[in-house]
Amino acid sequence: MAQLDVDHLQLVLKVSERCNIACTYCYFFFKSDQSYREHDAVLSAANVEDVGAFLQREIARHAIKRVTIALHGGEPLLMKRARFRALLESLTQACRTIRLDLTVQTNAMLIDDDWIELFGVFGVRVGVSLDGPPEANDRARIDKKGRGTHARSIAGLRQVVEAAREGRIPEPGILCVMDPGADPVAAYRHFVDDLGVRHLDFLFPDDDHDSFDRSRAGEFGAYLVKVFETRLRRGDKDVRIRVLDHLQFLLNRTPAARADDRAAQRRVKVATISSDATLGIDDIIRSVAPERFNAFRPVSRTSLEALFSGAEGHRLREAESRRPAACSDCLWRDVCGGGVHVIHRHSLARGFDNPSIYCEDIKIILGRMVQVMHAAGVSYDALLENLA
Ligand code: SF4
Repeated sequence: MAQLDVDHLQLVLKVSERCNIACTYCYFFFKSDQSYREHDAVLSAANVEDVGAFLQREIARHAIKRVTIALHGGEPLLMKRARFRALLESLTQACRTIRLDLTVQTNAMLIDDDWIELFGVFGVRVGVSLDGPPEANDRARIDKKGRGTHARSIAGLRQVVEAAREGRIPEPGILCVMDPGADPVAAYRHFVDDLGVRHLDFLFPDDDHDSFDRSRAGEFGAYLVKVFETRLRRGDKDVRIRVLDHLQFLLNRTPAARADDRAAQRRVKVATISSDATLGIDDIIRSVAPERFNAFRPVSRTSLEALFSGAEGHRLREAESRRPAACSDCLWRDVCGGGVHVIHRHSLARGFDNPSIYCEDIKIILGRMVQVMHAAGVSYDALLENLA
């Protein structure tokens, strides 16, 4: 009998907790959670087996229908290829009766044809972290000697794009951390025109109320508006931009449909397995409040139920389910839900009971989207009804 109400498990698997570069904004190495120092550099061979056994056990126990695994780091390709292959075999075997989606998030600097062959065998989708052309990317994405990484990353990315064109691997994506000091239009053109990538995401930096520079409020919204308008003006219907597409999807949903979405979302569970094969909650949340969320349980001796019914599981549920008091009168509350990620609401003084640090930015982009929908013929009455 199922113990937890979970249809879809989203697992962040820390294949490696070391990196070959040192991006200045990295939440994993340069924020308050320093637990990586106590974890193995890469998953050991024994831990690879334990992770597979854990998954198989939990899928059967909770009747999980779908597993998504993001192979993460640090830099995941620091694991030797033979062990990476064994890991993919173990995960695939554990999930053989259900849907499994595998992605790897990499800086692409170590990619070669052997890696591509391996990704092809197991259908691994490659996500490359890149923040735009060299003058944008190399502001923060630097190696340990302070040198820019753009040229080395795009050398790997070009091989991935070519392999996808040949049908050898799934179509890759780019993850770009927004920097309002850089040119968003140049970033968009670089990704789409120069590199031929059509699946993009633009991420808000992983800050909270204690680390955010308030003088920047609104700059990220202006950045996103430029990206949104560029795609619109060019008519790039085949270019997907996850953050924008998600907000547009929510704007188009009726309140009842959004309530259904939220109910379905409650049956999605997110967990992280560290490189020492211990289970914990979403590691981005751990990065802002490690003292409240760090509890690492060996996968060989724990369960999802223990994780989500434990103290940090309760804290997480409370943070996610309780809308910040300051959001209750907001026009956008049902679409925004208090922000794109729960960590953006966090402060040491008030926990998660704050609006998002990107509140102003979200209002700017939603406002622009509504203007465009109205210009396309949707009445303001219909739009307001959807927001009610
Ligand atoms: S974070 Fe801001 S935009 Fe989002 S619901 Fe709260 S007040 Fe509204």
